[in-house]
This record gives sequence, structure tokens and C-alpha cells, in this order.
Amino acid sequence: MDNPECFSCGASTSGGLKILGQYLCENCETSLVKCQTDKFEYQHWIDSCHRFWEKLNRKITGFEEEAE
Ligand SMILES: [Zn+2]
Repeated sequence: MDNPECFSCGASTSGGLKILGQYLCENCETSLVKCQTDKFEYQHWIDSCHRFWEKLNRKITGFEEEAE
């Protein structure tokens, strides 16, 4: 069975978690926790969050179009 694609790194590994329907793999989850004190990785997470919200916005927009 395929795992969903991680919204941060694109990996389809198991053991991650789902946030608002988007998948975050175990590695990235671990990094996210660690990088709270790591300024270099912080920029990566800002970029990832932008992609995350873009995906959500696209989903919401698509849903509204379907509903009409
Ligand atoms: Zn990942």
C-alpha cells in the first residue's frame, strides 16, 4: 500500500502524521521538532509551510468549484 506523499520532502515513508489532510513523514516531523532551535532549518520550514498552504488553498478552491 502506498503512503501519502510528505508535503515537505515528497517522501512516501510510513510512520508520519497527517495535519489537516496533508501528510508529514516521520523524518520531517522529527526535524520540525528539532528545528525549533535551528535557524537554518527554520527557513526550510517556512518554505514548506507555504507549499502546505498552497496545497490546502488549491483543495478548498477546487471544492468550491465542484460545489457550484
Ligand atoms: Zn518528509
